[in-house]
Parts: sequence; structure tokens; C-alpha cells
Amino acid sequence: MDEGLAFEQIERLLELQYRDAFSIMELKFWRDYRLRSSQGIQENADNFCFPSFSNHVFPHPSNDILIDLYVAGFKLQEDCFAQAMSRLLARWMSCDHTFKSVANIGYKRPSDGKWIKLYNSVFCILNEKGEVLQWQFTRSENFNEVSAMFSDLRRRLQCQNTLLEGIIIDNCCKWKEGLTRFFPETPIKLDLFHAVQRFVKTLSKRNPYHRAVSRDYGLIFRDPKDHGERRTMPTPEPSVILHNLDQFLSKWKDFTHEGKQIITAKGEKAIKNIKNHILKGCLSNIPVGCCTSVQERLHREMKKILTSNRIGSELAYSKFSRFFFKNNAKKSGKIWSPIMEEVSDAKSNAMQNSSEAKPKYVETFGIR
Ligand SMILES: [Zn+2]
Repeated sequence: MDEGLAFEQIERLLELQYRDAFSIMELKFWRDYRLRSSQGIQENADNFCFPSFSNHVFPHPSNDILIDLYVAGFKLQEDCFAQAMSRLLARWMSCDHTFKSVANIGYKRPSDGKWIKLYNSVFCILNEKGEVLQWQFTRSENFNEVSAMFSDLRRRLQCQNTLLEGIIIDNCCKWKEGLTRFFPETPIKLDLFHAVQRFVKTLSKRNPYHRAVSRDYGLIFRDPKDHGERRTMPTPEPSVILHNLDQFLSKWKDFTHEGKQIITAKGEKAIKNIKNHILKGCLSNIPVGCCTSVQERLHREMKKILTSNRIGSELAYSKFSRFFFKNNAKKSGKIWSPIMEEVSDAKSNAMQNSSEAKPKYVETFGIR
């Protein structure tokens, strides 16, 4: 399941297993029969034969039973998933909504059987290593819907005496007030990936200069001394970025291809909007590697775990929990294994006297 197998495929696999087991029995039956007749033992029944499945449908558990088993299996380890995530810390947080992957989560309304969608996005908060710290299914892009996640994270970081150095988000100025309530000293930055995308997506892909313009635009957020393929320095002060932007515009603003301007009216509007954020410092002093492009990779993977079929919220919650646990294990170089997590937990519990055992700190994830 974790690798993206559908329940229908598992159903089919179990059916094949039943068929194979059944065939092995039949094989043994006919071998025994031959052995017996070679020893002169004759079977006396007239219609002596091995029973067959006349309709070729071999018994297998239904989709619904498999889903129940999967969810029940997850529930046994749910606490260990939550504990593992509740321990993770961050110097930087990057936050993002993703929409497509949750479009099919919902339930069938009992009164008329109509499918009711429950969520329209999943909101993830990652640390600078790309580990998922907190996540939740959401119905809107309203800050209030996710504020409990930030409240939990503030408490987590306080408990561990960790100072948060920055938050990266695609709606920096809109959410600044809300975020500052939880992290008063922490700078809120606009995500570079989105800052670049907002302009780049206005360019026509058919234009042969598309790549060159995109590349030059991405470079305006670089320190002038930072030339390499990848960014190696924090993003510079607003005045430097604005200067870079001016140079970019003087190169491309009036550039035309086949009589059309490369930078369209939409592109100009996107740049005007980004300029506001540059001026407010939303794009300055962002360290290397702090960017939600990590999130974009996560989104692509996420799509694989939700098939195009409709899916209930309990199953979606189980699948996402396992998926994020697996992602986090990979990021920290550990083996992906909930049972090993349980073992290490049981071991540390056994080593402690019951009087010493600390209360476990576990947050809520996914559905609130
Ligand atoms: Zn901003």
C-alpha cells in the first residue's frame, strides 16, 4: 500500500494466492491418486475427481475488508507515528498547501448516497531538512484553520529550548500577523520557489527565450557574488534585489520575439506584486536550502498515494501518516519501519523505572 498499490490490486493478489494454493492441493491429489493406482489401489467412487471452481472466481477478501484491515493495522501503531513526529525540531519552517492530492477525500451521504467532499487541501509544515513536522487536512486557506498546528509547534520548540530562526510561506504578508502571535521574534519570509513561479508561469512556454528569461529572473534573488549553478549565500538585502530586478527589466522588458513582448501584462503585474514583498524584506536573508521546492517534491510523491478513486477520511489519514513517517525516516537516513520505532520505544520504557518514566508528549496530526 505504501508503494501506491491499490486495494483492488491487493484483492487480485490474494485471489491469485488462493488459486495457487488450490492448484497445489489438486496437484497433490492427482499425484497421490497415481501413486495409489500404481500400488494397485483403485478408487471406488464413480465420479472420482477433485472439486473445481466452476465459475473461476476464487474467494478473496473484499475491498471494504482490506481497507478495514489496513486502517485497523495503522491504529495499532498510530501512537508511534504521532510520537515520532512530535519529537522533530526545526530551525526553519516552510509551510505550504497542496490541493490536488486530497480532492477525493470524503464520504457517501447516507440519505441520498451523494459523495460529499471533506477537504480541499493538505497543509504541511516542514523543517529545513525536509522532515514533516506537522500536517493537517484543510477546507480553506484561512489561517485560523491551521493555527492550532502552529500553537503545537510553539509548545514543542519551547519544551526543547529551540529557537525558530524563520518561517517560509507563500502568503507571507497575509499571514504575518497570525504567525507573529505564535512566534513574535521570528522573521516571516516569502517562499522563493513561489516568488519565482508567480512570474515564470506568465511566460509563454512556446517562446524560445522562456528558459533564458526564467533563469535570469531566478537570479535576481541572488547576492551578486553568488554565481554558481546553485545558491550558496543567503538572499541579499532589498536594495540589492531591487537593483537586480532593474537590470533584469532593462534586459528583457522591451524584448520582443515575433513581434510579441516576452514579458506580458500579466508578467508585469506579477513583478509589481513581488516588488512589494521585496521592499518589505520578505525575500531577503533567506538561508541556502530554505525553500518549499522540497514541498513540491513531496507533493508529487503524495499524489501517488491517493489514487483517483474516492477515499474515506480514516483511510486517507492512515495513508498520509504512514507516508509522512516514511518520508521523515528517509530524510534522517533511518530505515522506514514503524515496528522498529515501537521496539526502541518499548526498550527505553523497559530501561526506565516506572517512577522515572516521563509523560509522553504527543501532538494531534491530520484531522482536528
Ligand atoms: Zn510578504
